[in-house]
Amino acid sequence: MRKLCVIGDPIAHSKSPVIQNAMLRAAGLEGEYTACRVAGTDTAGWLERAKREVYDGFNATMPHKENLVSLMDWLSEDARRLGAVNTVCIREGKACGYNTDGAGFLQALREADMDPTGKTVLVLGAGGAAKAVVAKLAQAGAADIAVANRTLSRAQQVCRVDGQAVAHPADFAPETLCRLARDCGLVVNCTSLGMTGTQGNFADLSFLEQLSPGAGVFDLIYSPPCTPLLQRAQQLGLNTANGLGMLVWQAVFALEQFTQTKLDGAAMAAAARKALEESL
Ligand code: NAP
Repeated sequence: MRKLCVIGDPIAHSKSPVIQNAMLRAAGLEGEYTACRVAGTDTAGWLERAKREVYDGFNATMPHKENLVSLMDWLSEDARRLGAVNTVCIREGKACGYNTDGAGFLQALREADMDPTGKTVLVLGAGGAAKAVVAKLAQAGAADIAVANRTLSRAQQVCRVDGQAVAHPADFAPETLCRLARDCGLVVNCTSLGMTGTQGNFADLSFLEQLSPGAGVFDLIYSPPCTPLLQRAQQLGLNTANGLGMLVWQAVFALEQFTQTKLDGAAMAAAARKALEESL
Protein backbone atom coordinates (compact mmCIF):
# COMPACT_ATOMS: atom_id res chain seq x y z
CA MET A 1 0.00 0.00 0.00
CA ARG A 2 1.65 3.23 -1.14
CA LYS A 3 1.56 6.13 1.29
CA LEU A 4 1.48 9.50 -0.44
CA CYS A 5 0.33 13.05 0.33
CA VAL A 6 0.54 16.71 -0.55
CA ILE A 7 1.97 19.22 1.92
CA GLY A 8 1.30 22.96 2.05
CA ASP A 9 -0.08 25.77 4.14
CA PRO A 10 -2.92 26.38 3.44
CA ILE A 11 -3.80 22.98 2.00
CA ALA A 12 -7.58 22.51 2.40
CA HIS A 13 -8.21 23.86 -1.13
CA SER A 14 -5.81 21.40 -2.80
CA LYS A 15 -7.22 19.25 -5.59
CA SER A 16 -4.24 16.89 -5.48
CA PRO A 17 -5.92 14.18 -3.32
CA VAL A 18 -8.91 14.02 -5.70
CA ILE A 19 -6.64 13.83 -8.75
CA GLN A 20 -4.07 11.39 -7.37
CA ASN A 21 -6.57 8.99 -5.77
CA ALA A 22 -8.56 8.90 -9.03
CA MET A 23 -5.40 8.10 -11.00
CA LEU A 24 -4.26 5.44 -8.51
CA ARG A 25 -7.65 3.72 -8.85
CA ALA A 26 -7.67 4.06 -12.65
CA ALA A 27 -4.18 2.56 -12.87
CA GLY A 28 -5.15 -0.30 -10.53
CA LEU A 29 -2.40 0.71 -8.08
CA GLU A 30 -2.77 0.32 -4.34
CA GLY A 31 -2.21 3.51 -2.42
CA GLU A 32 -3.69 6.32 -0.44
CA TYR A 33 -3.00 10.00 -1.06
CA THR A 34 -3.90 12.51 1.66
CA ALA A 35 -3.37 16.23 2.36
CA CYS A 36 -1.16 17.39 5.27
CA ARG A 37 -0.97 20.94 6.52
CA VAL A 38 2.69 21.67 7.17
CA ALA A 39 3.90 25.15 8.16
CA GLY A 40 6.58 26.82 6.05
CA THR A 41 8.97 26.79 9.03
CA ASP A 42 8.65 23.00 9.35
CA THR A 43 9.76 21.71 5.90
CA ALA A 44 12.86 19.95 7.26
CA GLY A 45 10.97 18.53 10.26
CA TRP A 46 8.27 17.22 7.93
CA LEU A 47 10.82 15.48 5.69
CA GLU A 48 12.23 13.60 8.69
CA ARG A 49 8.70 12.59 9.79
CA ALA A 50 7.84 11.49 6.24
CA LYS A 51 10.90 9.21 6.22
CA ARG A 52 10.10 7.82 9.69
CA GLU A 53 6.46 7.25 8.83
CA VAL A 54 7.52 5.47 5.62
CA TYR A 55 5.87 7.72 3.11
CA ASP A 56 6.70 6.71 -0.46
CA GLY A 57 6.55 10.33 -1.51
CA PHE A 58 4.71 13.61 -1.42
CA ASN A 59 3.87 16.65 -3.48
CA ALA A 60 4.64 20.12 -2.19
CA THR A 61 2.92 23.41 -2.75
CA MET A 62 3.30 26.87 -1.19
CA PRO A 63 5.40 27.61 0.86
CA HIS A 64 7.65 24.53 0.58
CA LYS A 65 8.81 24.31 -3.04
CA GLU A 66 11.99 26.38 -2.60
CA ASN A 67 12.71 25.17 0.97
CA LEU A 68 12.90 21.56 -0.21
CA VAL A 69 15.74 22.11 -2.69
CA SER A 70 18.60 22.11 -0.16
CA LEU A 71 17.04 19.19 1.77
CA MET A 72 17.15 16.72 -1.13
CA ASP A 73 19.70 13.92 -1.51
CA TRP A 74 19.19 14.08 -5.28
CA LEU A 75 17.59 16.65 -7.61
CA SER A 76 16.21 16.23 -11.12
CA GLU A 77 17.52 18.60 -13.79
CA ASP A 78 14.21 20.55 -13.87
CA ALA A 79 14.12 20.94 -10.07
CA ARG A 80 17.73 22.14 -10.04
CA ARG A 81 17.23 24.63 -12.89
CA LEU A 82 14.03 26.03 -11.36
CA GLY A 83 15.25 26.00 -7.76
CA ALA A 84 11.91 24.48 -6.75
CA VAL A 85 10.67 20.96 -5.91
CA ASN A 86 7.01 19.93 -6.25
CA THR A 87 7.46 16.15 -6.02
CA VAL A 88 9.57 14.21 -3.51
CA CYS A 89 10.12 10.44 -3.72
CA ILE A 90 11.58 8.67 -0.72
CA ARG A 91 13.64 5.74 -1.92
CA GLU A 92 15.61 3.64 0.56
CA GLY A 93 15.56 6.56 3.01
CA LYS A 94 16.88 9.04 0.46
CA ALA A 95 14.85 12.04 -0.75
CA CYS A 96 14.74 12.58 -4.52
CA GLY A 97 13.32 15.93 -5.65
CA TYR A 98 11.55 16.56 -8.96
CA ASN A 99 9.68 19.45 -10.52
CA THR A 100 6.85 18.34 -12.81
CA ASP A 101 5.19 21.78 -13.20
CA GLY A 102 7.08 22.72 -16.37
CA ALA A 103 6.61 19.34 -18.05
CA GLY A 104 2.90 19.44 -17.11
CA PHE A 105 2.58 22.90 -18.65
CA LEU A 106 4.28 21.83 -21.88
CA GLN A 107 2.15 18.70 -22.24
CA ALA A 108 -1.03 20.74 -21.63
CA LEU A 109 0.06 23.31 -24.23
CA ARG A 110 0.65 20.61 -26.82
CA GLU A 111 -2.66 18.94 -25.98
CA ALA A 112 -4.35 22.31 -26.63
CA ASP A 113 -2.60 22.55 -30.03
CA MET A 114 -0.38 25.43 -28.85
CA ASP A 115 3.10 23.98 -29.41
CA PRO A 116 5.47 26.90 -28.60
CA THR A 117 8.34 25.76 -30.85
CA GLY A 118 9.37 28.62 -33.15
CA LYS A 119 6.71 30.96 -31.74
CA THR A 120 6.90 34.46 -30.32
CA VAL A 121 5.45 34.17 -26.82
CA LEU A 122 4.17 36.77 -24.37
CA VAL A 123 4.19 35.61 -20.73
CA LEU A 124 2.12 37.69 -18.31
CA GLY A 125 3.32 37.57 -14.71
CA ALA A 126 6.60 36.64 -13.06
CA GLY A 127 5.79 34.60 -9.94
CA GLY A 128 6.68 30.99 -9.15
CA ALA A 129 4.51 29.56 -11.91
CA ALA A 130 5.96 31.92 -14.54
CA LYS A 131 9.44 30.70 -13.66
CA ALA A 132 8.61 27.11 -14.68
CA VAL A 133 6.69 28.32 -17.74
CA VAL A 134 9.51 30.53 -19.06
CA ALA A 135 12.17 27.84 -18.54
CA LYS A 136 10.07 25.24 -20.40
CA LEU A 137 9.14 27.60 -23.25
CA ALA A 138 12.83 28.30 -23.77
CA GLN A 139 13.70 24.61 -23.59
CA ALA A 140 10.93 23.81 -26.09
CA GLY A 141 12.45 26.24 -28.62
CA ALA A 142 10.17 29.28 -28.49
CA ALA A 143 11.67 31.82 -30.92
CA ASP A 144 11.20 34.83 -28.65
CA ILE A 145 9.83 35.18 -25.12
CA ALA A 146 8.76 38.44 -23.45
CA VAL A 147 7.81 38.49 -19.76
CA ALA A 148 5.56 41.39 -18.75
CA ASN A 149 5.02 41.98 -15.06
CA ARG A 150 3.70 44.68 -12.73
CA THR A 151 6.95 44.49 -10.73
CA LEU A 152 9.69 44.79 -13.36
CA SER A 153 12.47 43.43 -11.12
CA ARG A 154 10.59 40.10 -10.81
CA ALA A 155 10.27 39.92 -14.61
CA GLN A 156 14.02 40.46 -14.87
CA GLN A 157 14.66 37.55 -12.49
CA VAL A 158 12.35 35.15 -14.32
CA CYS A 159 14.03 35.94 -17.65
CA ARG A 160 17.28 34.36 -16.44
CA VAL A 161 17.49 30.57 -16.19
CA ASP A 162 20.71 28.98 -14.96
CA GLY A 163 22.39 32.40 -15.26
CA GLN A 164 21.43 32.75 -18.93
CA ALA A 165 19.01 35.28 -20.43
CA VAL A 166 16.26 33.25 -22.15
CA ALA A 167 13.60 35.99 -22.34
CA HIS A 168 13.28 39.76 -22.15
CA PRO A 169 11.49 41.62 -19.37
CA ALA A 170 8.81 44.27 -19.81
CA ASP A 171 6.42 46.37 -17.77
CA PHE A 172 2.70 45.69 -17.53
CA ALA A 173 1.34 48.93 -19.06
CA PRO A 174 -1.55 48.37 -21.54
CA GLU A 175 0.45 49.99 -24.37
CA THR A 176 3.42 47.70 -23.66
CA LEU A 177 1.15 44.63 -23.78
CA CYS A 178 -0.33 45.86 -27.09
CA ARG A 179 3.13 46.32 -28.59
CA LEU A 180 4.33 42.89 -27.42
CA ALA A 181 1.16 41.12 -28.57
CA ARG A 182 1.70 42.17 -32.19
CA ASP A 183 3.00 39.20 -34.22
CA CYS A 184 2.74 37.05 -31.12
CA GLY A 185 1.69 33.40 -31.57
CA LEU A 186 0.99 32.57 -27.94
CA VAL A 187 0.03 34.40 -24.74
CA VAL A 188 0.41 32.64 -21.38
CA ASN A 189 -1.22 34.20 -18.34
CA CYS A 190 0.75 33.41 -15.18
CA THR A 191 -0.73 36.23 -13.11
CA SER A 192 -3.49 35.59 -10.59
CA LEU A 193 -5.70 38.19 -12.32
CA GLY A 194 -9.18 36.73 -12.81
CA MET A 195 -8.73 33.86 -10.35
CA THR A 196 -11.60 32.98 -8.00
CA GLY A 197 -10.98 34.38 -4.52
CA THR A 198 -8.42 36.99 -5.56
CA GLN A 199 -8.98 40.65 -6.18
CA GLY A 200 -8.12 42.35 -9.43
CA ASN A 201 -8.62 41.79 -13.08
CA PHE A 202 -7.02 42.97 -16.30
CA ALA A 203 -7.80 46.69 -16.57
CA ASP A 204 -7.54 46.51 -20.35
CA LEU A 205 -7.74 43.48 -22.62
CA SER A 206 -7.25 45.35 -25.90
CA PHE A 207 -3.83 43.71 -26.35
CA LEU A 208 -5.70 40.55 -27.36
CA GLU A 209 -6.93 42.37 -30.47
CA GLN A 210 -3.30 42.69 -31.64
CA LEU A 211 -2.74 38.94 -31.80
CA SER A 212 -2.47 37.11 -35.11
CA PRO A 213 -5.63 35.11 -36.01
CA GLY A 214 -4.08 31.68 -35.33
CA ALA A 215 -2.67 32.67 -31.93
CA GLY A 216 -3.33 30.78 -28.70
CA VAL A 217 -4.17 32.13 -25.24
CA PHE A 218 -3.33 29.81 -22.34
CA ASP A 219 -4.44 30.82 -18.85
CA LEU A 220 -2.86 28.95 -15.93
CA ILE A 221 -6.00 29.66 -13.89
CA TYR A 222 -8.57 26.85 -13.79
CA SER A 223 -11.01 28.38 -11.29
CA PRO A 224 -13.11 29.84 -12.79
CA PRO A 225 -12.78 27.62 -15.87
CA CYS A 226 -13.23 30.63 -18.15
CA THR A 227 -11.62 33.88 -16.95
CA PRO A 228 -12.49 37.26 -18.49
CA LEU A 229 -9.19 36.96 -20.41
CA LEU A 230 -10.26 33.66 -21.97
CA GLN A 231 -13.80 34.94 -22.60
CA ARG A 232 -12.47 37.91 -24.59
CA ALA A 233 -9.99 35.69 -26.46
CA GLN A 234 -12.84 33.34 -27.40
CA GLN A 235 -14.94 36.27 -28.64
CA LEU A 236 -12.02 37.16 -30.91
CA GLY A 237 -11.94 33.60 -32.27
CA LEU A 238 -8.56 32.73 -30.72
CA ASN A 239 -7.60 29.24 -29.55
CA THR A 240 -7.89 29.11 -25.74
CA ALA A 241 -7.14 26.74 -22.85
CA ASN A 242 -7.36 27.03 -19.07
CA GLY A 243 -4.96 25.64 -16.45
CA LEU A 244 -6.77 22.38 -15.76
CA GLY A 245 -4.62 20.47 -18.25
CA MET A 246 -1.43 21.69 -16.55
CA LEU A 247 -2.76 20.74 -13.11
CA VAL A 248 -3.65 17.27 -14.32
CA TRP A 249 -0.46 16.58 -16.30
CA GLN A 250 1.92 17.69 -13.54
CA ALA A 251 0.08 15.17 -11.35
CA VAL A 252 0.42 12.39 -13.96
CA PHE A 253 4.19 13.00 -14.16
CA ALA A 254 4.43 13.07 -10.34
CA LEU A 255 2.59 9.73 -10.06
CA GLU A 256 4.99 8.24 -12.61
CA GLN A 257 7.86 9.20 -10.32
CA PHE A 258 6.11 7.94 -7.16
CA THR A 259 5.39 4.56 -8.76
CA GLN A 260 8.46 4.44 -11.05
CA THR A 261 6.02 3.27 -13.72
CA LYS A 262 5.27 4.58 -17.20
CA LEU A 263 1.54 5.24 -17.03
CA ASP A 264 -1.05 5.65 -19.76
CA GLY A 265 -1.01 9.45 -19.50
CA ALA A 266 -4.18 10.04 -21.52
CA ALA A 267 -6.16 7.51 -19.43
CA MET A 268 -4.78 9.00 -16.19
CA ALA A 269 -5.61 12.54 -17.30
CA ALA A 270 -9.15 11.48 -18.25
CA ALA A 271 -9.70 9.81 -14.83
CA ALA A 272 -8.37 12.91 -13.04
CA ARG A 273 -10.58 15.28 -15.06
CA LYS A 274 -13.68 13.15 -14.38
CA ALA A 275 -12.97 13.05 -10.62
CA LEU A 276 -12.36 16.80 -10.55
CA GLU A 277 -15.64 17.51 -12.33
CA GLU A 278 -17.48 15.26 -9.88
CA SER A 279 -15.82 16.99 -6.91
CA LEU A 280 -16.84 20.53 -7.96
P1 NAP B 1 2.62 34.29 -7.46
O1 NAP B 1 4.02 33.81 -7.29
O2 NAP B 1 1.92 34.91 -6.31
O3 NAP B 1 2.61 35.37 -8.68
C1 NAP B 1 1.46 36.14 -8.96
C2 NAP B 1 1.68 36.96 -10.22
O4 NAP B 1 0.48 37.71 -10.47
C3 NAP B 1 2.82 37.97 -10.11
O5 NAP B 1 3.43 38.11 -11.34
C4 NAP B 1 2.06 39.25 -9.71
O6 NAP B 1 2.73 40.43 -10.07
C5 NAP B 1 0.81 39.11 -10.56
N1 NAP B 1 -0.28 39.92 -10.04
C6 NAP B 1 -1.01 39.71 -8.92
N2 NAP B 1 -1.92 40.69 -8.76
C7 NAP B 1 -1.74 41.56 -9.81
C8 NAP B 1 -2.37 42.77 -10.21
N3 NAP B 1 -3.38 43.31 -9.49
N4 NAP B 1 -1.95 43.38 -11.35
C9 NAP B 1 -0.95 42.83 -12.07
N5 NAP B 1 -0.30 41.68 -11.75
C10 NAP B 1 -0.70 41.07 -10.62
O7 NAP B 1 1.66 33.14 -7.96
P2 NAP B 1 2.04 31.83 -8.83
O8 NAP B 1 2.29 30.70 -7.91
O9 NAP B 1 3.08 32.19 -9.82
O10 NAP B 1 0.63 31.53 -9.53
C11 NAP B 1 0.11 32.40 -10.53
C12 NAP B 1 -1.23 31.86 -11.06
O11 NAP B 1 -1.02 30.61 -11.70
C13 NAP B 1 -2.26 31.59 -9.96
O12 NAP B 1 -3.52 31.99 -10.44
C14 NAP B 1 -2.21 30.10 -9.76
O13 NAP B 1 -3.43 29.56 -9.32
C15 NAP B 1 -1.89 29.64 -11.18
N6 NAP B 1 -1.20 28.32 -11.21
C16 NAP B 1 -1.79 27.30 -11.88
C17 NAP B 1 -1.16 26.08 -11.96
C18 NAP B 1 -1.81 24.94 -12.72
O14 NAP B 1 -1.42 23.80 -12.52
N7 NAP B 1 -2.75 25.23 -13.58
C19 NAP B 1 0.09 25.88 -11.34
C20 NAP B 1 0.68 26.95 -10.67
C21 NAP B 1 0.02 28.17 -10.60
P3 NAP B 1 3.84 41.09 -9.06
O15 NAP B 1 5.10 40.32 -9.26
O16 NAP B 1 3.93 42.49 -9.51
O17 NAP B 1 3.28 40.95 -7.67
